[in-house]
This record gives sequence, C-alpha cells and structure tokens, in this order.
Amino acid sequence: MNCVVCGQPVIQARWELGYDYCMSPDCAHELRDRQSKYRLILVPKQGFTYVEATSTDLQTGKSSGR
Ligand SMILES: [Zn+2]
Repeated sequence: MNCVVCGQPVIQARWELGYDYCMSPDCAHELRDRQSKYRLILVPKQGFTYVEATSTDLQTGKSSGR
C-alpha cells in the first residue's frame, strides 16, 4: 500500500477510503491532474480502474444528465 506517485506508504484508513496516494500536496496535485483526464470506475471482479475521459465521453455524460 504505497503512494502511486511517490512510493511512500499510505496509511491503512486512507487506503481503505479508496485513496492510492499519500497526503503530500505534490501527490494530491498529481492525482487531481490525472483525474481530470481519467475517470475512476468500478469494474466488477477487477475493482477500480481508470478509463480515459475523452471529450466525447464527457459530452455524453452531460447530455444524458439533462
Ligand atoms: Zn505520495
């Protein structure tokens, strides 16, 4: 259970909440940047995975919300 950005240990409680990075501002910034490009989705039997959030996907999501 190490930070995916810097490799330092992530506390258990934080990991269980779904965070895979430590509380370092640099890492938080790095991940926030990634999340703007990728969406975290839950895949059955595989757990969470990132999919690339293309502009088409984002537009579809917005239009379906109307
Ligand atoms: Zn880190």
